[in-house]
Amino acid sequence: MREEKALFIIFGGTGDLAQRKLYPALFNLYRRGHIQKSFAVIGTARRPWTDEHYREVVADSIRGSVDADFYTEAMVENFADHFYYQSHNVNDTEHYMILKKLAQQLDDEYEIGGNRVFYLAMSPRFFGTIAEHLKTQKLVTDHGYNRVVVEKPFGRDLATATELNQSIEKYFPADSIFRIDHYLGKVMIQNITAIRFGNSIFRNLWNNRYIDNIQITLSESLGVEERACYYETAGALRDMVQNHILQIVSLLTMNAPVSFNDQDLRQEKISALKSLKVYTPDEVAHNFVRGQYGPGEGVHAYRDEDNIADDSAIETFVAGKLEVENMNFAGVPVYIRTGKRLATKATRIDVIFKKMPTNIFPGVALTNNVLSIDVDPNEEITLYINDKDYDTGFKMKQLPLAYRNQNRDCPEAYEKLLHDLLRGDATNFTHWEEVKYSWQFVDAIRSAWDMETPAFPNYESGSMGPQAADELLARDGKQWFFDPTKTN
Ligand code: NAP
Repeated sequence: MREEKALFIIFGGTGDLAQRKLYPALFNLYRRGHIQKSFAVIGTARRPWTDEHYREVVADSIRGSVDADFYTEAMVENFADHFYYQSHNVNDTEHYMILKKLAQQLDDEYEIGGNRVFYLAMSPRFFGTIAEHLKTQKLVTDHGYNRVVVEKPFGRDLATATELNQSIEKYFPADSIFRIDHYLGKVMIQNITAIRFGNSIFRNLWNNRYIDNIQITLSESLGVEERACYYETAGALRDMVQNHILQIVSLLTMNAPVSFNDQDLRQEKISALKSLKVYTPDEVAHNFVRGQYGPGEGVHAYRDEDNIADDSAIETFVAGKLEVENMNFAGVPVYIRTGKRLATKATRIDVIFKKMPTNIFPGVALTNNVLSIDVDPNEEITLYINDKDYDTGFKMKQLPLAYRNQNRDCPEAYEKLLHDLLRGDATNFTHWEEVKYSWQFVDAIRSAWDMETPAFPNYESGSMGPQAADELLARDGKQWFFDPTKTN
């Protein structure tokens, strides 16, 4: 196992993301041997924590989220010993000087060799000032790599995203900025390229001659929970479509990269996003549906949740029909939907192939072949084919050929992404141009929606969204293949 050497400086080290995701992911890298002796972590935030308290917090976050079969207490303690806390206000220049000293000391002590990861696990409004201070106060080294990791949301429209990007790129070269979209770390999302470009049957069929339509569902059963303040300024379009959904669309509709490396892959993803048709306001009205949840069994309407305005016009649901204007996908509608308080929690992709050009079986109905990719909570691939009923006579039935990943110890998204980051592999991080074209597409929808006040709430909690989301497909003679409200 190759040991990756790095000093992590986590800004927002006391926060939710660090505790729920980053510390368990780092621990998993440690127990698998990807990081061993030559690593240290400095957590910084304003709270006046001691190293001892910080290590306890780190250990608790591991005990709370990693399966107890995979570690011993001694492993957790040895791991936590690599963690140091520095109380720090990111706006205060003096603190960067203290941080620099500690970083140098740990770099020497752990023989890290100058590799630094600056993880900005805090509000994007601080990214610019942190990037500036890291550079001007010389926290970057000249004898190892310096990588900056940023989280979503990356801006709230193209203008703010551009500004944010410039504020970081002013101090760090483009190839040292790693924009996290944790969906890109999910095993089944990474599997899209494997399925498409590793199998000749799919390579040949993956185009507008054979694919009828593509459906992507990111549904959540929970409501807004504690994220009310953020959600009221974002909504489902910015929170889920601009990043996760459009990333999935790009992986499904891009052309084959010349080879499987970050540069070639990103180039094709950028082209796919660039070829999305940007809608006029009339086209938005025709192709996009927004919704907000009303009450349901034992749950409140969105507008009755804590910290939500009584007349909030924020959407908790989006469905849309996207058009990809490239040679391979022109004419293939890509239907997307995402929402809160829906019937189930699931991320699911259905690629619906065209029906047979003619049916030679008298009196027998043939269904479309469908390739379904369940991303979570199950990790499953299912290919639906038409199969002869094993009986006398000749009837057909739809047969699901399914494989479900049963590996309990499969690396989680953040672990995979942090491992990629340490190896300098940017394949599963979002390039600025991808962000740019995604905002361009989303901004057109947002500005059309902002011209009118929607009639909310318009869907019941526990359903699969407003009726208009079904009508969007029915109008084209189609329906959602994934319907958790129906029992099979
Ligand atoms: P959070 O729990 O509110 O944490 C924010 C962190 O920033 C805290 O550690 C806070 O600590 C620190 N902080 C705030 N102001 C500071 C200042 N002036 N100087 C130094 N430290 C300061 O937020 P989060 O949920 O972890 O999210 C962090 C980032 O990740 C956000 O951009 C969020 O959108 C993104 N994100 C989070 C998740 C998630 O699951 N949580 C998922 C995707 C993306 P002190 O109060 O001690 O200073």
